[in-house]
Amino acid sequence: MSKVRTRFAPSPTGRMHVGNLRTALYEYLIAKHEGGDFLLRIEDTDQNRYVEGATEIVYNTLAKAGLIHDEGPDKDKGYGPYVQSERVATGMYLEYAKQLVEKGEAYYCFCDKERLEDLHKEAEKRGEVAKYDKHCLQLTKEEVQAKLDAGVPYVIRQNNPTEGHTVFNDILYGDITVPNEDLDDMVLIKADGYPTYNFANVIDDHLMEITHVVRGNEYLSSAAKYNRLYEAFGWDIPIYIHCPIITDENHKKLAKRSGSSSFEDLLEQGFLPEAIVNYMALCGWSPNSDQEIFTMDELIKEFDYTRISKSPAVFDIVKLKWMNSEYIKKMDDETYYEYALPVIKETITKDLDIKKIADLVKTRIEVFPDITEKIDFFQELPEYDIAMYTHKKMKTNSENSLEVLKEMLPLFEALEDYSIPSIEKVAMDYVAGKGCKNGQALWPLRTAVSGKQMTPGGAYEIMEILGKEESLRRIRIGIEKLS
Ligand code: GLU
Repeated sequence: MSKVRTRFAPSPTGRMHVGNLRTALYEYLIAKHEGGDFLLRIEDTDQNRYVEGATEIVYNTLAKAGLIHDEGPDKDKGYGPYVQSERVATGMYLEYAKQLVEKGEAYYCFCDKERLEDLHKEAEKRGEVAKYDKHCLQLTKEEVQAKLDAGVPYVIRQNNPTEGHTVFNDILYGDITVPNEDLDDMVLIKADGYPTYNFANVIDDHLMEITHVVRGNEYLSSAAKYNRLYEAFGWDIPIYIHCPIITDENHKKLAKRSGSSSFEDLLEQGFLPEAIVNYMALCGWSPNSDQEIFTMDELIKEFDYTRISKSPAVFDIVKLKWMNSEYIKKMDDETYYEYALPVIKETITKDLDIKKIADLVKTRIEVFPDITEKIDFFQELPEYDIAMYTHKKMKTNSENSLEVLKEMLPLFEALEDYSIPSIEKVAMDYVAGKGCKNGQALWPLRTAVSGKQMTPGGAYEIMEILGKEESLRRIRIGIEKLS
């Protein structure tokens, strides 16, 4: 068996849609699972869609996602060029198209725009899909040559049979049979001399010895025509895997304007590349177990492309957030601080132990930007309403809270060592002496030192970080508010 070779063939048109990222990931995993090669080919021949800088986005995305290509424009292993426009410049596509003309599998077409538009309109009237009517197939060799000599603009079309069937196979969909009369004589070489995607992908995949082609199922309807090209040349057909689309929660195609449709969007929202990759692996594929968190090596080991799902995958940002939080929890301290401290420093300019603050939120965030809202009270006691002291379950209200704070204040004033165990001891001794519930002391205390309904960590942790002076100041403010 030949070595597995897969390719990611993006058209550089902007940010990388998560669907494209998933395609790249599956291509990568298929290759690596079999010890094969993963190639990068830039399909930049559609001049209308080309976006400046988009090729850099492709490189950056692959690098950040850990999808390291073995071959590509920057790593030529003898199958180059790997940039389609550079391949066009060699004239190779036209040469291959001419071979097909020789074989009778393709023909020159000189029909002008008006005639093609008329064909379209007539088909529309009949309620049919427009198909080229093989008008130019009738031209004799001499007529064709005369037009070429006279410089009449032309395209080269595939010559598909009108009877019989073409069968092709897709791993997910099985054998698909298409009546040949449905096959349009698609354009292979455009009037500007450029190959169409439909032609170039076949030539390139063959010359680059690609064994598995993963792509979106929008290409499924063209696969029969690709097969006819492979057969016309006498080439091996690669294994096709047409992945279903990724939808939003309303089952509509995940659109750019959702703001979460590209890898770059997700990075900006604070997701970790590893978590995005892990999530995308499961967005349309499932392993043979209920494991959900995978390292890249585990994915490579487990990835079985026959388990890719045929039904559309729903992009579930809630799940991705959960996954991201799992990655954050598992981070070693050094890496975690690298991400968390800069976010914390944006909010906390006071001289506080920001590593302790970071530790406090580590298990409580989904993405790093979540930190800001959770820790802002350390910087400044927020304006809060005394209604916050009232808690039904804790059996607290503004009256008993005032009492508790007044009684505890001198105890904390007398405390020298402001560490969690000492603070806790003071509070617990107080609770024991008073004979009240823990919550009756701790709820007012935490409210006073944080001014917030919800905080990462309890009163002790917060007080230790704030230090004696600031904690006491906040308790006094609480007493004042409640008095
Ligand atoms: N350039 C095509 C795209 O970005 C590639 C499709 C394929 O993988 O064959 O959609």
